[in-house]
Amino acid sequence: MSARDDLAELVADVKALVDDGWGRGVRSEGEPEPLPAASPVPVPVAAPAPSRASSWAALAAQAREQPSDPAAALQHVRDDMGDCRRCGLASGRRQIVFGVGDPRADLVVVGEAPGYHEDIQGEPFVGAAGQMLDKMLVHVLGLSREQHVYILNMVKCRPPRNRDPEPDEVEACRPFLEGQLAALQPKVLLVLGRVALQALFRSNESISRVRGTWRDYQGIPTMPTFHPAYLLRKPDDKRLTFADLKAVRARYDELGGGRSS
Ligand code: URA
Repeated sequence: MSARDDLAELVADVKALVDDGWGRGVRSEGEPEPLPAASPVPVPVAAPAPSRASSWAALAAQAREQPSDPAAALQHVRDDMGDCRRCGLASGRRQIVFGVGDPRADLVVVGEAPGYHEDIQGEPFVGAAGQMLDKMLVHVLGLSREQHVYILNMVKCRPPRNRDPEPDEVEACRPFLEGQLAALQPKVLLVLGRVALQALFRSNESISRVRGTWRDYQGIPTMPTFHPAYLLRKPDDKRLTFADLKAVRARYDELGGGRSS
């Protein structure tokens, strides 16, 4: 890379940092609260058709005939959810907010739960925090929710008054999250905020302490960072999230991200 390219990249980075979309806030994040450990739950992914192949060559031929179809696999998970009533959130929601984005995405973004706007529109991250997330994706990662990224939440129904989801609600929804990840098979996960971090890992870790450090979620490199709603309230911490997103982009590139979509 030439000195001119270096300079251009630096200017683009600084522009992204000071972009005015990194603005004002709606949702707040409190101090970490512990989530109790829970037992693993089965993943409702489509079982592969029984194989009659008896050699690697036959298996390869069979795989070519049945290319993996993440959109169909995702639809299978959605169909499994149906008009879900597995936890108490069902009674207060307008609709299930399943997820949005590119089924061939190599990066999956994990939020906590739908809020007011998401519940109305049926899509994750469409309020002020969502606009901020879009800017983070486009300006820092160079990706967008339409292509290369899939966005979902730990729980798919809006908690009343935007409270944190309860552990039993997280566990009731976990099979569908795991089904989505099995369908998408992302190369990298980006986890937004304390609530999603603690729910995903069944931990009580502090987001401030672990953000910017790689974790492993079922073999997928996972980067926790601040929630965009928190950054709307604390814009000074965008600098830290900026570094986390750059690390995500580097890992994504290293792992061949974006080649399949
Ligand atoms: N915050 C989240 O964590 N998810 C959404 O979908 C919206 C706001």
